[in-house]
Amino acid sequence: MVARRFQVSHNGADFDVDYDTDNGLEVFRIQLFSLTEIPPDKQKILGAENDLVVSEDSDLLAVAEKLRLVSIDEEAEEKVEDQKDETFDNVADTLKSDEELARLLQAEEEALLRQQYVADQNTGQIEEKLRPYVSQVQMYEDPKRQEAARMTVPLNELEEQALVSLAKEGNFEPSKAEQDHAFLIKLLYWFKKSFRWVNAPLCESCGNDTVNQGMGSPLSSELQYGASRVELYSCRYCLGTTRFPRYNDPLKLLETRRGRCGEWANCFTLYCRTFGYDSRLVLDFTDHVWTECFSEYLGRWMHLDPCESVYDKPLLYEKGWDKKLNYAFGFARDGIYDVTKRYTRKWHEVLNRRNLITESSLLGLLSKLTRECRRSLPHQAISALEDRDRREADSLERDLHSSYDPSVSLPGRQSGDKQWRISREEIGAGDNNSSLSSSSCPIRNCTDEHVTRIYRAFTPLLSHFSEKLVSQSTAIEVLNNFRQLLLKLRSLNFKTRRVSLDSIPISQASYVDELLPSFGDLLESLYLKLDNTDGKVEICLSGDPVRTSLALPVVLDALKDTIDNLRKSESFNQDVLSLPLVKENRIHSGSVRASGEEIPLGIATSAFDGTCETKWEEPNGAKGCWLIYKLPGNQKQELMAYELMSANDVPERDPKDWIVEGSEDDGTSWHVLDRQTSQIFESRFQRRTFMVKSTGLQSNTFRFRFLATKDTQSNSRLQIGSIDLYARGSCQQENTK
Ligand SMILES: [Zn+2]
Repeated sequence: MVARRFQVSHNGADFDVDYDTDNGLEVFRIQLFSLTEIPPDKQKILGAENDLVVSEDSDLLAVAEKLRLVSIDEEAEEKVEDQKDETFDNVADTLKSDEELARLLQAEEEALLRQQYVADQNTGQIEEKLRPYVSQVQMYEDPKRQEAARMTVPLNELEEQALVSLAKEGNFEPSKAEQDHAFLIKLLYWFKKSFRWVNAPLCESCGNDTVNQGMGSPLSSELQYGASRVELYSCRYCLGTTRFPRYNDPLKLLETRRGRCGEWANCFTLYCRTFGYDSRLVLDFTDHVWTECFSEYLGRWMHLDPCESVYDKPLLYEKGWDKKLNYAFGFARDGIYDVTKRYTRKWHEVLNRRNLITESSLLGLLSKLTRECRRSLPHQAISALEDRDRREADSLERDLHSSYDPSVSLPGRQSGDKQWRISREEIGAGDNNSSLSSSSCPIRNCTDEHVTRIYRAFTPLLSHFSEKLVSQSTAIEVLNNFRQLLLKLRSLNFKTRRVSLDSIPISQASYVDELLPSFGDLLESLYLKLDNTDGKVEICLSGDPVRTSLALPVVLDALKDTIDNLRKSESFNQDVLSLPLVKENRIHSGSVRASGEEIPLGIATSAFDGTCETKWEEPNGAKGCWLIYKLPGNQKQELMAYELMSANDVPERDPKDWIVEGSEDDGTSWHVLDRQTSQIFESRFQRRTFMVKSTGLQSNTFRFRFLATKDTQSNSRLQIGSIDLYARGSCQQENTK
């Protein structure tokens, strides 16, 4: 284990980096990645004195201690810069170079010219195609249909989920716009689960697979709900015929809840209108349908694809699916909008495919149809809409020639609100020289003080058990009963949760009075209290219901863990009152950054939220990745232990080898605190505790360098259900916010 310390300079900053021959160049590169943001495959390491390129381990032993790091991308950019006199624009959205832009504009002009020859001047054919959708979307305005839609939605649950997702970002007092935005996303996720995709329907008589037999003529009961097209399928086994009417009326779809993208988007757009969102049904002429809603929070239109459960990723089709788009129209109660430009960054190519009608005739047709939709609106409303249209057109035009990709940013917090992202980055990064500032993967703050409070609240309870010499089996039974009570509480409406203690089995009754006081801390940590009126003892909310919503999954997981750990311990005495049973001094409220994360469902802070159902997922982490945790404020702690929990699925993604380091100076220099190799998680949601040998090092930043997952061949990802850090000694971390 030969170790050398190198001084690596990059962009005017110097970093001291230890090189360990056991770990090799690969790990050295990961270290550099965590310090400089330059991914290993983009790094060019040079000897500072002789510009020797370091590409193998032996090179590192040969060079002098001073190294220079350049990013291959930056190097290429620099060369381009040299050839230019000025940059086109230096705003945050990186615009394409002026040279490239000129070329694109030229190509667009040529495409337009070509269109003059091949496209039709006659608007008849395309109008015929658009008209049905104009009337289709009027159905969403029908109060009867909206009411029917509302009845099928678990309103309270979605509202709770939305508020919890905001609370997890530290936002306990969201504005109406923030709430609406969060609710819309939960509505989208719920819809995806509640609707079924149909290729060929299963046989109506025997449930077996069927084969398409062509089209049939619609019955009057089918026509009643707009199914002018009926597909026929024949059963492979009983040979019976199954009809698949393609209903257009969303009222019917609320009941059938199945179909292809047409049915999905149609029904989902009704839901969006039902909850008051300004919505459009978007028809893409290359055969897809989705929804757009205006987000007051983002201040702009947002793309939502109910089939995919994807939102605000308008380039999904062109970039992700490699679709050759031509026309995409948004249909709303107040007009028909050509929204194609939102979905492409290759407008000149799209223009080449727009051969149905000239652009000017199309514009004329759309404004004619839009005028019809707005006929009955008061003058004021019309000019407000026209204002909005102009702003939208401007922003579409602007984005069209920008290389900014909104798909690489925060969930629901995307390009529209740059100010928010900027302010977000400032939080937790008061240190300008630290590796935590400036990022592609943002710094995220952990809202997890409640997790620490809940873990801590178990201590008096367990101490009480051990003092009273309660038997292990009784302790387990009591905790199990409490867990059942909380499960019941969780199933209730989040705004009015209340449950009676009567549901505790009689056999435990004698313990109730004696044990209840020791449950006090735990109840308090859940924002719950005992209510003793009319001789009936109930548990009810004591404060903000959202705090309880946030806490319940945490305490349920913690109870399960505690019960499991109790079962494993041989006897129940003072000796067992330590980790992993008693979790004192959990570090919380820090800020986290990772080498990568899966958006929106695998972000780095998910590993710190105290629940097993969420996880941090690093899409390219199997062969090496990192996560940096910075303590809040000016806090410094000695790490005593940490716990890692395996995630819900795919054991191949479990971490196997890793190094934990601490830094006293915001990550300028690191000290190895713990190193683990060939670790195996035997089950899902398995929590493992690792004690750290005392070094006395007071760190303000910790870093996990994951070197390999269980299987790095078949899988490129790393995932971790949760990470908990424990400080040595008494952790003075009350109310850091
Ligand atoms: Zn059959």
